[in-house]
Amino acid sequence: MDFKNNIRVIPDFPQAGISFKDITTLLKDGAAYRAAIDELKALVAHLEIDVIAGPEARGFVVGAPLAYALGVGFVPIRKSGKLPYETIEVGYDLEYGKDTLAVHTDAIKPGQKVLIADDLLATGGTIATSVSLVEQLGGQVVGAAFLIELTALAGRNKLSDIEVVTLLTYE
Ligand code: 5GP
Repeated sequence: MDFKNNIRVIPDFPQAGISFKDITTLLKDGAAYRAAIDELKALVAHLEIDVIAGPEARGFVVGAPLAYALGVGFVPIRKSGKLPYETIEVGYDLEYGKDTLAVHTDAIKPGQKVLIADDLLATGGTIATSVSLVEQLGGQVVGAAFLIELTALAGRNKLSDIEVVTLLTYE
Protein backbone atom coordinates (compact mmCIF):
# COMPACT_ATOMS: atom_id res chain seq x y z
CA MET A 1 0.00 0.00 0.00
CA ASP A 2 1.25 3.51 -0.79
CA PHE A 3 0.93 5.26 2.53
CA LYS A 4 2.21 8.56 1.14
CA ASN A 5 -1.39 9.42 0.25
CA ASN A 6 -2.19 9.21 3.96
CA ILE A 7 0.57 11.57 5.11
CA ARG A 8 -0.06 15.32 5.12
CA VAL A 9 3.06 17.42 4.55
CA ILE A 10 3.03 20.79 6.31
CA PRO A 11 5.68 23.31 5.17
CA ASP A 12 7.46 25.44 7.80
CA PHE A 13 6.16 23.59 10.88
CA PRO A 14 7.09 23.88 13.71
CA GLN A 15 9.54 26.41 12.31
CA ALA A 16 10.67 27.84 8.96
CA GLY A 17 12.49 25.34 6.77
CA ILE A 18 11.02 22.19 8.39
CA SER A 19 8.71 20.17 6.15
CA PHE A 20 6.63 18.36 8.79
CA LYS A 21 5.19 14.93 7.98
CA ASP A 22 1.80 14.86 9.70
CA ILE A 23 0.79 11.26 10.50
CA THR A 24 -2.58 12.18 12.09
CA THR A 25 -4.17 11.83 8.64
CA LEU A 26 -2.95 8.21 8.56
CA LEU A 27 -4.00 7.48 12.15
CA LYS A 28 -7.60 8.62 11.68
CA ASP A 29 -8.08 6.23 8.75
CA GLY A 30 -8.71 2.86 10.40
CA ALA A 31 -7.91 0.75 7.34
CA ALA A 32 -4.69 2.63 6.59
CA TYR A 33 -3.55 2.61 10.24
CA ARG A 34 -4.14 -1.14 10.53
CA ALA A 35 -2.44 -1.79 7.17
CA ALA A 36 0.60 0.26 8.25
CA ILE A 37 0.98 -1.67 11.51
CA ASP A 38 0.45 -4.97 9.69
CA GLU A 39 3.17 -4.06 7.16
CA LEU A 40 5.59 -3.12 9.93
CA LYS A 41 4.77 -6.41 11.64
CA ALA A 42 5.66 -8.29 8.43
CA LEU A 43 8.92 -6.33 8.10
CA VAL A 44 10.07 -7.34 11.61
CA ALA A 45 8.67 -10.89 11.52
CA HIS A 46 12.15 -12.43 11.12
CA LEU A 47 13.45 -10.73 14.28
CA GLU A 48 13.32 -12.28 17.72
CA ILE A 49 11.60 -9.66 19.88
CA ASP A 50 10.78 -9.84 23.60
CA VAL A 51 9.55 -6.30 24.04
CA ILE A 52 8.99 -3.08 22.07
CA ALA A 53 10.11 0.30 23.40
CA GLY A 54 8.80 3.56 21.94
CA PRO A 55 9.53 7.21 22.71
CA GLU A 56 6.77 9.64 23.66
CA ALA A 57 4.42 10.50 22.06
CA ARG A 58 4.18 9.28 18.49
CA GLY A 59 6.33 6.25 19.29
CA PHE A 60 3.38 5.07 21.37
CA VAL A 61 0.95 5.10 18.45
CA VAL A 62 3.32 2.95 16.40
CA GLY A 63 4.97 0.83 19.10
CA ALA A 64 1.93 -0.09 21.20
CA PRO A 65 -0.25 -1.52 18.39
CA LEU A 66 2.81 -3.29 16.96
CA ALA A 67 3.48 -4.84 20.38
CA TYR A 68 -0.16 -5.93 20.58
CA ALA A 69 0.02 -7.44 17.09
CA LEU A 70 3.21 -9.35 17.97
CA GLY A 71 1.97 -10.37 21.42
CA VAL A 72 4.92 -8.78 23.22
CA GLY A 73 5.10 -6.09 25.91
CA PHE A 74 5.47 -2.34 25.40
CA VAL A 75 7.84 -0.04 27.30
CA PRO A 76 7.16 3.71 27.18
CA ILE A 77 10.21 5.96 26.89
CA ARG A 78 9.12 9.34 28.23
CA LYS A 79 10.23 12.91 28.64
CA SER A 80 11.97 13.68 31.92
CA GLY A 81 9.70 13.94 34.99
CA LYS A 82 6.75 11.94 33.63
CA LEU A 83 7.47 8.43 34.87
CA PRO A 84 6.45 7.69 38.49
CA TYR A 85 9.04 5.08 39.49
CA GLU A 86 12.87 5.17 39.54
CA THR A 87 14.30 6.13 36.13
CA ILE A 88 17.48 6.57 34.15
CA GLU A 89 17.74 9.56 31.81
CA VAL A 90 19.73 10.58 28.73
CA GLY A 91 19.81 14.06 27.14
CA TYR A 92 19.92 14.57 23.36
CA ASP A 93 19.62 17.09 20.50
CA LEU A 94 16.48 17.14 18.36
CA GLU A 95 16.11 18.19 14.71
CA TYR A 96 14.73 21.36 16.33
CA GLY A 97 15.69 21.76 20.02
CA LYS A 98 16.96 19.68 22.97
CA ASP A 99 15.31 17.18 25.26
CA THR A 100 15.80 14.42 27.83
CA LEU A 101 14.31 10.93 27.65
CA ALA A 102 13.75 8.58 30.57
CA VAL A 103 12.77 4.97 31.19
CA HIS A 104 11.90 3.00 34.34
CA THR A 105 14.92 1.13 35.69
CA ASP A 106 12.94 -2.14 35.80
CA ALA A 107 11.31 -1.73 32.37
CA ILE A 108 13.69 -4.11 30.59
CA LYS A 109 15.45 -7.16 31.97
CA PRO A 110 19.12 -7.73 31.09
CA GLY A 111 19.34 -9.84 27.94
CA GLN A 112 15.86 -9.02 26.63
CA LYS A 113 15.67 -8.44 22.89
CA VAL A 114 14.15 -5.05 22.19
CA LEU A 115 12.66 -3.50 19.06
CA ILE A 116 12.44 0.29 19.17
CA ALA A 117 9.52 1.92 17.35
CA ASP A 118 8.70 5.51 16.44
CA ASP A 119 6.72 7.35 13.79
CA LEU A 120 9.64 8.97 12.01
CA LEU A 121 13.43 8.75 11.69
CA ALA A 122 14.98 12.17 11.08
CA THR A 123 18.48 12.84 12.47
CA GLY A 124 18.30 9.65 14.55
CA GLY A 125 18.87 11.50 17.82
CA THR A 126 15.65 10.29 19.44
CA ILE A 127 16.28 6.69 18.53
CA ALA A 128 19.99 6.74 19.39
CA THR A 129 18.95 8.04 22.83
CA SER A 130 16.32 5.31 23.14
CA VAL A 131 18.96 2.71 22.18
CA SER A 132 21.27 4.12 24.86
CA LEU A 133 18.55 3.86 27.53
CA VAL A 134 17.69 0.27 26.57
CA GLU A 135 21.37 -0.73 26.52
CA GLN A 136 22.01 0.89 29.91
CA LEU A 137 19.34 -1.45 31.29
CA GLY A 138 21.09 -4.44 29.70
CA GLY A 139 18.61 -4.86 26.85
CA GLN A 140 19.77 -5.91 23.39
CA VAL A 141 18.36 -3.71 20.63
CA VAL A 142 17.59 -5.98 17.68
CA GLY A 143 15.98 -3.40 15.41
CA ALA A 144 14.16 -0.12 14.92
CA ALA A 145 10.86 0.30 13.07
CA PHE A 146 9.39 3.54 11.70
CA LEU A 147 6.51 4.64 9.53
CA ILE A 148 8.69 7.29 7.86
CA GLU A 149 12.39 7.87 7.19
CA LEU A 150 13.78 11.26 6.11
CA THR A 151 16.73 9.91 4.13
CA ALA A 152 18.52 13.25 3.62
CA LEU A 153 19.12 13.53 7.39
CA ALA A 154 20.94 10.15 7.39
CA GLY A 155 19.63 9.11 10.83
CA ARG A 156 20.24 5.51 9.79
CA ASN A 157 23.99 6.14 10.10
CA LYS A 158 23.55 6.65 13.87
CA LEU A 159 21.97 3.18 14.02
CA SER A 160 24.56 1.29 12.02
CA ASP A 161 24.59 -1.78 14.30
CA ILE A 162 20.86 -2.47 14.21
CA GLU A 163 18.35 -3.34 11.53
CA VAL A 164 16.20 -0.37 10.53
CA VAL A 165 12.84 -0.90 8.80
CA THR A 166 10.63 1.89 7.43
CA LEU A 167 7.40 1.96 5.40
CA LEU A 168 7.96 5.26 3.62
CA THR A 169 10.90 7.45 2.71
CA TYR A 170 11.17 11.16 1.90
CA GLU A 171 14.30 13.00 0.74
P1 5GP B 1 15.19 12.69 15.17
O1 5GP B 1 15.47 12.54 16.62
O2 5GP B 1 15.39 11.42 14.39
O3 5GP B 1 15.90 13.87 14.57
O4 5GP B 1 13.66 13.12 15.04
C1 5GP B 1 12.65 12.18 15.12
C2 5GP B 1 11.69 12.54 16.21
O5 5GP B 1 11.15 13.84 16.01
C3 5GP B 1 10.55 11.55 16.23
O6 5GP B 1 10.24 11.21 17.58
C4 5GP B 1 9.41 12.28 15.55
O7 5GP B 1 8.19 12.04 16.21
C5 5GP B 1 9.79 13.76 15.59
N1 5GP B 1 9.72 14.37 14.27
C6 5GP B 1 10.69 15.09 13.67
N2 5GP B 1 10.28 15.52 12.47
C7 5GP B 1 9.04 15.06 12.30
C8 5GP B 1 8.07 15.15 11.23
O8 5GP B 1 8.29 15.75 10.16
N3 5GP B 1 6.91 14.51 11.42
C9 5GP B 1 6.64 13.83 12.55
N4 5GP B 1 5.43 13.22 12.64
N5 5GP B 1 7.50 13.73 13.58
C10 5GP B 1 8.69 14.33 13.45
